[in-house]
Amino acid sequence: MDGSESNAGERLATIRAAVERAHKRFGPPASHVELIAVSKTFPADAVLPFLEAGQRVFGENRVQEAKDKWPGLRERFADVELHLIGPLQTNKVKDAVALFDVIETLDRDKLAVALSGEMQRTGRQPKLFVQVNIGGEAQKSGIAPDETVAFVARSREEHGLKIDGLMCIPPDGVPPGPYFAHLAVLAREAGVAELSMGMSSDFEVAIGMGATHVRVGSALFGHRPTPADMA
Ligand SMILES: *Cc1c(COP(=O)(O)O)cnc(C)c1O
Repeated sequence: MDGSESNAGERLATIRAAVERAHKRFGPPASHVELIAVSKTFPADAVLPFLEAGQRVFGENRVQEAKDKWPGLRERFADVELHLIGPLQTNKVKDAVALFDVIETLDRDKLAVALSGEMQRTGRQPKLFVQVNIGGEAQKSGIAPDETVAFVARSREEHGLKIDGLMCIPPDGVPPGPYFAHLAVLAREAGVAELSMGMSSDFEVAIGMGATHVRVGSALFGHRPTPADMA
């Protein structure tokens, strides 16, 4: 085992223990909280030690990047579960349905129609979460909070999709708790069971508000290079 592998194993154990602790103290009683390791921007060799340490659920935010990275890793780890957590353009629906096990970013009717068509054509049935723009921010994707319940109903009744959960990214720089609580209320009203919310800095708060999935990147993989760092 080389240094990076034991390092990955230790980080994974630390975060899993924190997830478990938060779940025990504040979380929903019965269900399990799934840790999604967000591997966006990290190459396959940085992901490999986490697979070797036993992690199987991963998140990516770009279809093309995932398509370049994951087929090779999946040849070795067939039981990986891959979540799409970034915006999905309709021209990438075919690739997304082929590659992802869970698509967390359904947020408009046009995309619902495209997903429904592709899922019928191929028989592949990735699980679907609806992304909610919980802070109503102009720069973020997601359906508006007050349109969420109707959109979930439409996705089911008109587009024939099974919707399993809601996902959100709260605004930066303000306490996220009220946004997570709001998403939990919307999920109850819409009749969906799963809640993908909470990232490296706030997953414990999210678990306290009922998260069933937390999406943790930098706390596992380290700092992500930004374009400014690379310049
Ligand atoms: C990058 C990303 C994350 C992980 O963020 P960290 O702060 O690195 O844990 C979670 N969710 C989404 C949608 C992301 O794009």
